Amino acid sequence: MTTQTNDALQKELDLLMDVLEEVKDNIPEGQYLRGMNALGSIHKQKRNTTTTTNRLGSALESWKTLDEIEEDDEDLYDEIIELADDIVFEICGEDSSIYSDSSYNLVHRGQEKDVFDKLINYKPERGNAGYETTPMVLHHAIQLIMSRLFDDTFHELEIVRPVSCQCGWRGPQGNWDRHITNVRHQRWINAENERKSQKRLAEAREIIIARRESGIVFLNELHSTPESKIATVEAIHAAESAGDRVVFMCADGTMSWFA
Ligand SMILES: [Zn+2]
Repeated sequence: MTTQTNDALQKELDLLMDVLEEVKDNIPEGQYLRGMNALGSIHKQKRNTTTTTNRLGSALESWKTLDEIEEDDEDLYDEIIELADDIVFEICGEDSSIYSDSSYNLVHRGQEKDVFDKLINYKPERGNAGYETTPMVLHHAIQLIMSRLFDDTFHELEIVRPVSCQCGWRGPQGNWDRHITNVRHQRWINAENERKSQKRLAEAREIIIARRESGIVFLNELHSTPESKIATVEAIHAAESAGDRVVFMCADGTMSWFA
């Protein structure tokens, strides 16, 4: 209920009360009392509605995100971290801490479900870490723990995620670095490079000779690669062995004799 509606309603209630007071002496006392009781009841409902609305409104207004808190309320931020640490201690065991290095697994294998349920259903109860705090602080503390735990889980899943290599190997992502230094993989890479090189050489041999004309072999000037150089040398050698002259044809159309 807005303040405006509230004031208007109060005005109407006051007016009704005035009317009742005015006619009080002309009506039976029972009727007057029934009227006053009804007014009192409306007044009480109005007050309750207003209080609830205000309480909800101010609770939402004072609710901040963890980022906002980290930025402008160091004490509150510390309170959240400390609470998160206490809850981790409570749920994951006494050698656990929210401050522990991110590579350290807070949840041990097999306990994931148990810890997850405890966090999801965490309820402030007398004696536990979350008992004497505000809902906002508790919320952020639980969120912090969740994000830390899921980070671990995500990290673990990344390590065991199956990957495959072109060489045919298939295994967990965590073994990838070791795999690429593996002899079988290296052999495959070498064979693959050799195969690609042979293919490029065959292509270069196919296109190196542009045409032949009465004792002259016209060679295309190819984009310089080890394979195109081999193909060019081979073509020159073959032409000279046959007693032919060699002319280079450049990409821009100019020609030059092979000296
Ligand atoms: Zn491989």
